[in-house]
Amino acid sequence: MRIEIPKPVENIEEILNRAVFSKKDLLFLLHAKDKDRLKLFEKAKETKLAFVGRKVYFRGLIEYSNFCNKNCFYCGIRAGNSRFARYQMTDEEVLEAVRYAFENHYASIVIQSGERTNKTFVSKIESLLKKIGTLTQNEIHVTLSLGEQSEETYRRWFDAGAHRYLLRIEVSNPGLYVKLHPANLRHDYQRRLAALRTLRRVGYQVGTGVMIGLPFQTLDDLADDLLFFREFDIDMAGMGPYIEHVDTPLYQYRESLLPLKERFDLSLKMVAILRIMMKDINIAATTAMQTIDPQGREKALMVGANVIMPNLTPVKYRQDYLLYENKPCLDEEAEECKSCLEARIHMAGDTIGYGEWGDSKHFIGKKKKKSASRD
Ligand code: SAH
Ligand code: SF4
Repeated sequence: MRIEIPKPVENIEEILNRAVFSKKDLLFLLHAKDKDRLKLFEKAKETKLAFVGRKVYFRGLIEYSNFCNKNCFYCGIRAGNSRFARYQMTDEEVLEAVRYAFENHYASIVIQSGERTNKTFVSKIESLLKKIGTLTQNEIHVTLSLGEQSEETYRRWFDAGAHRYLLRIEVSNPGLYVKLHPANLRHDYQRRLAALRTLRRVGYQVGTGVMIGLPFQTLDDLADDLLFFREFDIDMAGMGPYIEHVDTPLYQYRESLLPLKERFDLSLKMVAILRIMMKDINIAATTAMQTIDPQGREKALMVGANVIMPNLTPVKYRQDYLLYENKPCLDEEAEECKSCLEARIHMAGDTIGYGEWGDSKHFIGKKKKKSASRD
């Protein structure tokens, strides 16, 4: 007699308890609705609590300059957009923002800008890093987000005091990447990937990420993005919804996009799934999430994010750093931004790790393992 063993029905608890998610699991989780969706969020919250705790780390964001040599099809400050003024902060303005961060015990800052690779820019960043080190007696950790650079440049900036680098892969599917960028070497997928590898080799804590809800993007692509993060063994992640900008080539596809609310929900799911997959990395609650939902960042904290980037850019420049439309807090000075965030973080049930670097535990763990194997 043959006994039929019934095939178990996929259930979310079973999937959530797997040590390693397969692509099929990831697709199941990305599709989760109602009770299943809440279970996913609950598991992510538990994982955050168990592995990184409830502390949120601040990274004071300095949007240094909107000059950019690139023409990414999604971005409002692309070189081809001439409908706004270009700026670069003075050294004094940067140091003033750093001083604010230092005095308010932020412990970390991020310097972000359009991509430029010329000698003057490279030297300017190097000298700024040295000045920041002197001003804060190297007590502030600096993250850079200045795009693709040569190995020599990455090394110079590392030696001048930067420790972390954010370079989003944007989308991990090379076929999709070409649809979102001009077809030339300056916008080449393989070069971006190589830049990520170089950053790792130089010794940075490496962060990457993707936009969610782009034209032509599928759930299959998002599942692959998560697998990419795991395979690359990233230390930090910054992901957020794609938000269309009227002065960009991708704006023509706006009718084909998911509604904003769905893009937001998918972004929350990506954060939650990544937290469960990579338990001890740092994950940012990004500003783009707040653009769609006023409580977007708190919601991201509740499903696994543990880093927030309060904006320290002087208000006079903020209108000109519009990567996407409806960016929030354009008129909020650093002080207002800080108290608003404090209230929001406490609302989400978290506390702020003032005076702590909040380095990626994942990165520290890898470093320890490496030195143990050398001993
Ligand atoms: N020039 C650097 C850093 C500044 S851009 C770089 O490109 O790496 C920072 C991030 O803004 C980009 O990585 C991209 O993911 C995001 N961004 C650009 N345009 C966007 C849009 N329309 N919607 C959402 N995010 C966007
Ligand atoms: Fe420039 Fe970065 Fe915008 Fe691309 S995403 S156009 S590199 S600022």
